Amino acid sequence: MIQKIKGTMDIFPDEAALFRYVEGVMREEAAKYGYGEIRTPTFESTELFVRGVGDTTDVVQKEMYTFADDDKSISLRPEGTASVARAIIENGKCTDTMPLKFYYIISCFRHEKPQAGRTREFFQFGTEAFGSTSPASDATAIALAASVLKRLGLKRVKLNINSIGCKECRPAFRESLVSYFRSHEGCLCENCKSRLEKNPLRLLDCKVEKCHALAEGAPKTIDHLCEGCRHDLDMLLKSLDAMGIEYVINPSIVRGLDYYTGAVFEFISEGIGAQSTVCGGGRYDGLVEGLGGPSLPGIGFGMGITRVLLAMREEGVADIEKELPLLYVAALGEFAQVKALAICERLRREGKFCECDTVGRSLKAQMKYANKIGAKYTLIIGDSEIETGRAMLRDMSTGEQREVLLDSFSL
Ligand code: ATP
Ligand code: MG
Repeated sequence: MIQKIKGTMDIFPDEAALFRYVEGVMREEAAKYGYGEIRTPTFESTELFVRGVGDTTDVVQKEMYTFADDDKSISLRPEGTASVARAIIENGKCTDTMPLKFYYIISCFRHEKPQAGRTREFFQFGTEAFGSTSPASDATAIALAASVLKRLGLKRVKLNINSIGCKECRPAFRESLVSYFRSHEGCLCENCKSRLEKNPLRLLDCKVEKCHALAEGAPKTIDHLCEGCRHDLDMLLKSLDAMGIEYVINPSIVRGLDYYTGAVFEFISEGIGAQSTVCGGGRYDGLVEGLGGPSLPGIGFGMGITRVLLAMREEGVADIEKELPLLYVAALGEFAQVKALAICERLRREGKFCECDTVGRSLKAQMKYANKIGAKYTLIIGDSEIETGRAMLRDMSTGEQREVLLDSFSL
C-alpha cells in the first residue's frame, strides 16, 4: 500500500468545508482592509530564501525541500513573504502608488518533525503591506489578523507584541545579549551554542527548557530601543488601544526569520498545546532592499490555517452548517431512474442541490439513504408516475405530502 508522505494531510469533504469557510472569512476580511490577492509560484530559486529568509535560520538551514532542476537549485516555498517581495521587485511594482497590500492563501513546505499543529506541508494565510514605515500600517495588519480570529469565534487567542529594534539599536542590544549568554554558555543546548555566534536573537525563543529559563533573565530588546523604535512602538500600542484591540507586551517574542525589524507580534492560543502560535508577523524594513530592490519597508504576518482549526475545535466553534440536499428522487425501475436524473438536472439548473440513486439501491434502501443524507424533500417515482406525469413530494421533517407535476414543479 502506498501511503502519504509523513507530515502531509488528506482532507476529506467535511474538513475541506471547514477550510473553505475559514479561508472565506480570511478573503473577506482581507478585502475589507484593502489587501488584494497575489499568487506566486510554489517553488523558487533556493537563493531567494537563503537571502530573503536568512541563511542562519532553521527554516533555511534544516527545513527546506531543495532539489536540482537542470543546473539550478530550487526550493519549495517554506513561507510566502520572500516570494511576494521578489514579485514586486521583478514586476516593477516598487514605484507604484503606496501602500501595496497583498494577501495569499498557500501551502508551504518545511521538513520539520511532524506533530499536532506542525506538518511538513502546511497551509497559511499571509499578508504583506509595503511602502510605509508608519505604525499605522502595523496597526492595520494586526487589526486584520485580529478581526479574522474574532470572526471565527476565537476568544482564547491572545495578541503578544514586542519590538526587536532596528539597525540603529540592534547592534548594542546584540552585544549585551551575547555577553549575558556567554556567561551562562555551559547551560545552553548545543543548538543555542551555535546560535550565540550566528543569530543570538534566536536564543530568546529556544523551546528547550534550560535555555528558556535563561532567556527569562536575559536583556530585553524592549529596554534597549532607540528613540525612533520606542516612539513607533508607543504609537502602535496607542493605535491598538484606539481600535479596541487587546494585547500584552511579551519581550520574548523575537520571530524566527532574519528579516524582521521593529514591531513583531504573535497571536497565541491558550488551548492547543506546544504549537500554540496561530499567527506570527512583524515589520521587515530591510527585506526588499536585501533582495536587490529599492529601500521599501514592509509589514506582514503568516497565519497557520491548521492551527486556527485546532484552536476553533478546542474552543468549540468549529461546527459549521453543512449544506444538505433539498431533494432526493427515489426511483423504481430503469425508466424511472432516467426520469429521476432528468428531474434532478432540471432543478440543479435552477441552483438546487438534488440527488438520486446511481448505485442501484432498492426503493426501501433509497429512502433510508435519503434520510441519512438529510434530504429535505423526497419524491418517489415508478412507472405509473411517469405515465401520469405526477408524483407525491414528501417533506421529510413534517411528513406532509403534496402532488406535483414532474416536468414543471419547483422547490
Ligand atoms: P513556529 O515557532 O511554530 O515554528 P514559525 O516562527 O516557524 O512558527 P512562521 O514562519 O512565522 O512560523 O509561520 C507563520 C505561521 O505559520 C506560524 O505562526 C504557524 O501558525 C504556521 N506554521 C509554521 N510552521 C508550521 C508547520 N510546520 N505546520 C503548521 N503550521 C505552521
Ligand atoms: Mg518554525
